Amino acid sequence: MSTQTRQYAGHLASGPPHDVIDPSDGSSIESIAASTEADCADAVSIAAEAFPAFAALAPRVRGEMLRKAYELMTAESESLARLVSRENGKILADARAEIGYAAEFFRWFSEEAVRVSGDFRLAPSGDKTIVVTHEPVGVSLLITPWNFPAAMATRKIGPALAAGCTVVLKPAMETPLTALAIVDLLARAGVPAGVVTVVTPVAPGPAVSRMLGDRRVRNLSFTGSTEVGRMLLKQASDRVLRTSMELGGNAPFIVLDDADLDDAVAGAILAKLRNGGAACTAANRFYVSRSIADEFSRRLTERMSALRMGPGLNDGVELGASVSIRERDKIADLVDASVSHGARVLTGGTRPEGAGAFYPATVLTLEADNPILGEEVFGPVAPVVAVDSDDEAIARANATEFGLISYVYSGDLGRAMSVARHLEAGMVAINKGVISDPAAPFGGYKQSGLGREGGFAGIHEFLESKYIGVTI
Ligand code: NAP
Repeated sequence: MSTQTRQYAGHLASGPPHDVIDPSDGSSIESIAASTEADCADAVSIAAEAFPAFAALAPRVRGEMLRKAYELMTAESESLARLVSRENGKILADARAEIGYAAEFFRWFSEEAVRVSGDFRLAPSGDKTIVVTHEPVGVSLLITPWNFPAAMATRKIGPALAAGCTVVLKPAMETPLTALAIVDLLARAGVPAGVVTVVTPVAPGPAVSRMLGDRRVRNLSFTGSTEVGRMLLKQASDRVLRTSMELGGNAPFIVLDDADLDDAVAGAILAKLRNGGAACTAANRFYVSRSIADEFSRRLTERMSALRMGPGLNDGVELGASVSIRERDKIADLVDASVSHGARVLTGGTRPEGAGAFYPATVLTLEADNPILGEEVFGPVAPVVAVDSDDEAIARANATEFGLISYVYSGDLGRAMSVARHLEAGMVAINKGVISDPAAPFGGYKQSGLGREGGFAGIHEFLESKYIGVTI
């Protein structure tokens, strides 16, 4: 029962124990208490009570709390990275990179807290002054996925606290330990009790519905699948609730015939294999000029087939486990279906035996109508399609309801920029395999989401604008 589970500050959970599993061997890492629906309702009350005092703090004070959180997170990065690797399955190098990235959101928003500017000008008619100020939106519900358990939490908590909002955080149930560690760290950074509360309901649907129905919740910030995002948007519409949605991706990776192939393959490895392919930004479809497609596939296969797969914490391992057997089996089923539709396997493609949620690095060559190209694979699978022109690459890249990020490799910057301008994506990487940056706006076109996180836009997801008309 819950009496055997470890208690965490800021965690409201009185329900039965929930085992957090190490996906590399199926063992239990720790048992935490689950939150009941009543706990979730209470978490909203706690956030609502804490809001007025927290919103009234000077921006500098809130900024310094976030700065302290950045420093603590940096000082404790190794133990946090090991925790992320253990509960998520990713390799330690990726977990370390995630903690560095996650901490940077606290640093960036510690700086943004004191830079919220308004507007003050004479109306064109001259009859009044237009004054625009910004105020915290209020209690915010933050829901995060398992693939970046640290960074997806700090990318929301950072701007929320900088803006003066109080929050309830619901992490993914595969990876709640990282969220609990971050909330403990925030308390040590001086964030007052009640400003951040974590809930861990085993059945998220009813618990989240109950919180969304509470009139004191003013904002929903969700990162996860488009399927769940769509459902939450429907619920949020009942109360015309403000929402930010960071949803799924299906990123095209375009290699034009004048690209430096070594660079393109190195970028492909980064864009494909960071987090073992479990990233919304992961390159999911490779469109390569026909004249270089065979050579690109050969070099990619050489690199991917040499990767050492194993438990993420082990030395020398380059490809870790997926987060669960269920997620691993989704990857395997997608590859099996693609092969039955004619895909050719250049490396990988087989589901290993054993308790760990492993899937090998896989390269496929296939035709442009193969169904795997319509799915977010979320694993180490690179499907390569040959294309005959830049226009074909653009048309195929855009032929999806997703529009998070696209990658373009070319030796001609003008040509790459022209392709970038035609891509329907919120982010485009030119001759780079990773461009995520806390100082840049992250978000998607089409069904990849609504709103932007990070950059100058991120804090505004947690602020209301107020226009005051006055004759001065
Ligand atoms: P998911 O299944 O949509 O889950 C995300 C979060 O929503 C989890 O906390 C989950 O809780 C919760 N949830 C699930 N069903 C719910 C419901 N009916 N009502 C309320 N909450 C619910 O996504 P995931 O598998 O964890 O993450 C992978 C997806 O996230 C991919 O599609 C990926 O592209 C996307 N993603 C997007 C971004 C971005 O910035 N655009 C970043 C990272 C990931 P439980 O864990 O308890 O089920």
